[in-house]
Amino acid sequence: MKTYRIAAIPGDGIGTEVVDAGVEVLKALAQRAGSFDFQFDHFDWGGEYYQKHGRMMPEDGRDQIRNHHAILFGSAGHPDIPDHITLWGLRLAICQPFDQYANVRPTRVLPGITSPLRHVSGPELDWVIVRENSEGEYSGVGGRVHQGHAIEAATDVSIMTRAGVTRIMRFAFQLAQGRPRKLLTVVTKSNAQRYAMVMWDEVAAEVAKEFPDVTWDKAIVDAMTMRMTLKPWSIDTVVATNLHADILSDLAAALAGSLGIAPTANLNPEGLFPSMFEPIHGSAFDIMGKGIANPIGTFWSAVMMLEHLGEKPAADRLMRAIERVTANPDLHTPDLGGKASTRQVTDAVIGAIAADNT
Ligand code: ATP
Repeated sequence: MKTYRIAAIPGDGIGTEVVDAGVEVLKALAQRAGSFDFQFDHFDWGGEYYQKHGRMMPEDGRDQIRNHHAILFGSAGHPDIPDHITLWGLRLAICQPFDQYANVRPTRVLPGITSPLRHVSGPELDWVIVRENSEGEYSGVGGRVHQGHAIEAATDVSIMTRAGVTRIMRFAFQLAQGRPRKLLTVVTKSNAQRYAMVMWDEVAAEVAKEFPDVTWDKAIVDAMTMRMTLKPWSIDTVVATNLHADILSDLAAALAGSLGIAPTANLNPEGLFPSMFEPIHGSAFDIMGKGIANPIGTFWSAVMMLEHLGEKPAADRLMRAIERVTANPDLHTPDLGGKASTRQVTDAVIGAIAADNT
């Protein structure tokens, strides 16, 4: 029997609650499948670890998880620690050295969930956003001089490389090709940004030639926000830079009903390093410890993890279980307007896995 070693990094806030729920669901799924198993190794990295040790993860942290098959991540963020420290100290400290350059974010209006957009239900909003996850605006290049003085200056330099843009375009075109509509929108800002974004467009056009069966178009990022809200059915697969996709995918999550549902995968497509799966929401300290965090975003991320591991039947079974549960408004957490707890939703998904005879 195949055993997958999974590094579980719950992080901070509701991250611990939803990752615990995710681990339970994955164990139930393995038991139901009978053909594979999980070994979960838990790592207590994050804000509390920082307060004890002065860093978000140990110096050799990456070596401790380098040989795992995948990483299940919760959220990094702490009210007493600046966000750039928590982000760069943990999440980006894993994503960047592990070259998880493709960040994939599916968005759908699941059964039983109401989109804030009028007249929009399942078929009209079914997107996958591909975010460039290794360079661009979040390259970490920049600096500050004259700190604290009136003449202080600061830069964040966006770095785009031909190799980096080519690989994310190829990934996005391939993904679009594998979806029924074979439709890709390349988000850009080449009207105002004359260098890197123009190269981004050029590379898109070059890579497009390798995929003649994919229909593609370009959208300026500001116009894209309008298209997402006014004509969501005109969109299928989307590729955008690190910053643009960061913003657009939060909008996408809200349009699909709640931030608590949205999943994401940080992929190293070549498999040289482990890939990382996480809900897109943050630590949500306002609801921490109340037992009401929506675990669906983590469960859906677990679906993506199973697909990545090659366990497609188990991934499909978990997605069916999720959809059965969301279809029942009595099992909605407060972010969806319901009264259910994390525990109830988790138990219901585990029950739906057991009851699934497909
Ligand atoms: P961070 O600083 O770590 O990004 P945040 O609290 O600023 O975290 P999010 O956690 O992403 O931001 O979400 C904003 C709000 O959305 C939260 O304060 C919370 O009320 C709600 N929310 C997010 N995720 C969930 C969830 N899984 N279940 C219920 N509500 C959620």
